[in-house]
Amino acid sequence: MKVAVYPGSFDPITNGHLDIIKRALKIFDKVIVLVSINENKKYHFTNEEKIKMIKEALIEEKLDNVEVDSYSGLTLDYCKKINANVLIRGLRIVSDFEYEWSLAAANEFIDSNIEMVFFMAHQKTSFISSSSINEMFNNGVDVSSLVPNAVVKMYKNKLL
Ligand code: ADP
Repeated sequence: MKVAVYPGSFDPITNGHLDIIKRALKIFDKVIVLVSINENKKYHFTNEEKIKMIKEALIEEKLDNVEVDSYSGLTLDYCKKINANVLIRGLRIVSDFEYEWSLAAANEFIDSNIEMVFFMAHQKTSFISSSSINEMFNNGVDVSSLVPNAVVKMYKNKLL
């Protein structure tokens, strides 16, 4: 079975992330969405909230063969632990390429058995980032066409 790990902050999951998952499912039998926990980073949502939104979004989109997990160490160590050797990432703009290139080079240095596979963002969702979604929502912009319903629901819950 071909398993791929899709690591990221997912703060929150967006339609852009979902597009990458759908593309990956055309090639891999199973995708594991891995919420990376970094104690030094300040997130909008808690780890539990992120996982809840991802799980609900996967049900909403009827995406089987996708699991959700979180990990606070090196993503490469997580891959080793579950015996996976492919990491998925998404590419939007040129600056993504620069960032992903250095990440891929560092990963190659640490463990050359793990391959990184990149998917190009869909033109309709390529402008979406979790941080821009948070900023738009905080400034009263309707983001419901850019994120799954579960995210809109969570934003509203947080406001209560
Ligand atoms: P990270 O902090 O690890 O970059 P993100 O959740 O921001 O976590 O992104 C995880 C991965 O998903 C990255 O490879 C990023 O480029 C990709 N990604 C994020 N938003 C989109 C989008 N709108 N379309 C395609 N890929 C995306």
